[in-house]
Amino acid sequence: MRIAITGTPGVGKTTVSKVLGDKLGIKVIDITEAVKKYKLYTEKDEDMDSYVIDFEKLEKFVSEIEEKEKTIILDGHVSHLLNPDYIIVLRCNPEIIKERLEKRGYKPKKVLENVQAEILDVCLCESKGKVYEIDTTSRDVEDIVDEIVEAIKHKKERKGIVNWTEEYFDYLTLEIK
Ligand code: ADP
Ligand code: MG
Repeated sequence: MRIAITGTPGVGKTTVSKVLGDKLGIKVIDITEAVKKYKLYTEKDEDMDSYVIDFEKLEKFVSEIEEKEKTIILDGHVSHLLNPDYIIVLRCNPEIIKERLEKRGYKPKKVLENVQAEILDVCLCESKGKVYEIDTTSRDVEDIVDEIVEAIKHKKERKGIVNWTEEYFDYLTLEIK
């Protein structure tokens, strides 16, 4: 069984996944880390400082761990593409994501692309099957994790709880070469 914790970079996936994994005693795979560490990519995009993931290799890596562990948490912004049984989509105010990614040292173009992805619901739109969406803005990690535990327990489904497009429309018209 695969539980995906997905969402735009900077939304809080790794922070939430660690606490959730500890609470439930479930192994967490940080997909972003695994892709880098085990070279599960076809090429590195130097300009954007990101990787083109080799999904075949990544799937093999994940399924081998799943076989041993039975239940796993997949932490990453592509985790919803790895045939999960249940998907948690974390959401956060785009300006908070912007601040976090700037602090992380991302290039302006990469920051903007991710801010736009959050505004356009990209991870949510790509998520198929059982999906539960949570707005994490201004919430404690413990509080978010408690809600996820309840959602998993009752296999709750929920989509369409935030709309950033009106307040943050201007970001969608920006472009950085
Ligand atoms: P992701 O894995 O989605 O890229 P991280 O878990 O690395 O995001 O979190 C990005 C930053 O936001 C970190 O500095 C983290 O401490 C902070 N953060 C995450 N969740 C929260 C939260 N609920 N409240 C405040 N800060 C948070
Ligand atoms: Mg992370």
